[in-house]
Amino acid sequence: QGGEGVGLYRSEFLYLSQDTVPTEEDHYNAYREVVQAMNGRPVVIRTLDLGADKMDKFSTTGTDANERNPFLGCRSIRLCLQNLPLFKVQLRAILRASTAGPVQIMFPLISNIMELRQSRMILGDVMEDLEEQGIPYRENIPVGIMVEVPSVAIQAKTFCHEVDFMSIGTNDLIQYTVAVDRGNERIASLYSGAHPAVISLIQGVVRAADKAQVDVSLCGEMASAPEYTMLLVGLGLRSLSITPPALPEVKQIIRAVSIDQCRRVARKAATFDSDREVANYLRDQLGKAIPGVFDGRSIGY
Ligand code: PEP
Ligand code: MG
Repeated sequence: QGGEGVGLYRSEFLYLSQDTVPTEEDHYNAYREVVQAMNGRPVVIRTLDLGADKMDKFSTTGTDANERNPFLGCRSIRLCLQNLPLFKVQLRAILRASTAGPVQIMFPLISNIMELRQSRMILGDVMEDLEEQGIPYRENIPVGIMVEVPSVAIQAKTFCHEVDFMSIGTNDLIQYTVAVDRGNERIASLYSGAHPAVISLIQGVVRAADKAQVDVSLCGEMASAPEYTMLLVGLGLRSLSITPPALPEVKQIIRAVSIDQCRRVARKAATFDSDREVANYLRDQLGKAIPGVFDGRSIGY
C-alpha cells in the first residue's frame, strides 16, 4: 500500500495468539521475519503492551483479570518492569533481530520519567549480557516512547531529552484525557480525537519534539482517519503510522492539499470549544479540499 516502514509493531500478539508462552526464539523469529520483509525500511517494535484491553491467558506474565481498574492498573510497561525475566527475553530478541535491519525499540504506556530510565537501564543490562555472550546487536538502536498518558504529553519537553523518538498513541491518550474507556459503547460518543484538550496535547508534544529535534509520529487510529489528516499535518506531524487499508486515502489527501492549507485548518480547529464543532469543521474542510470524499460512507469520530 506504499508504506515506508512499520510504525507500530504490536508485539503482544505473540502472547495473545499462541497456546504456549513464547520463547526467546519465538520472539526473535517473529521480529527477524518482519525486519527482513521490510527490506531496509524501519520497523518500530513496541515492547509488550499486555493487560487491560490485551489480556493474555498465561499465569507467568503477571496480568490480573481481577484488577479493579485494569486500564489504570499493572499493565504494559508497568507489568514488564515488575516481571524482568519476561521483559528481558523480549529485549534480547529485539536486539538480536536488530542486526537484520533498522529496528527501533518503543516503550508503551510510559507515565513517569523513572519508568523510562528504568527501562533503558534494563535494556543496557541486556546489551551487556549479549556482549558477554558474543551475540551481535545494533549498539545505537533508537529508543523511544509512546505518548499515551497526559502526564507525558504535558511533560514532553523533559522526555525529549532522554529519547530518540516519540510516537503519540491517541487511542489511549484520548481515553486517559477524557476519562472514557475506549471499549465502552455506552459512552462511545464521549470518546473523540476532536476534543480540544486532545488537540492541545498533540500540539504540545509536536512542538516540544520539533524544538528538541526529536522525531515524532502519531500511531493511534486518528492517523488512519481521513477526517484528521489535514489537522495532523497542520499541527506539524510529518510521520503517521497508519493501518494498511487506509494508506492510499490518507496519501491522496496529503497530495491534494498544501502545508499552509493544513496549518490554517489546525489554527482554526484550535479555536473551537467542543469536539462536535471541531469534528464538523474538519469534515467540512476535507469535503471542500477533496469533493466527493464522503460519498457512500459514514464518518465516525
Ligand atoms: C494507542 O494507544 O494509540 C496505540 C496505538 O496502542 P494500542 O491501540 O495498541 O493501545
Ligand atoms: Mg495504547
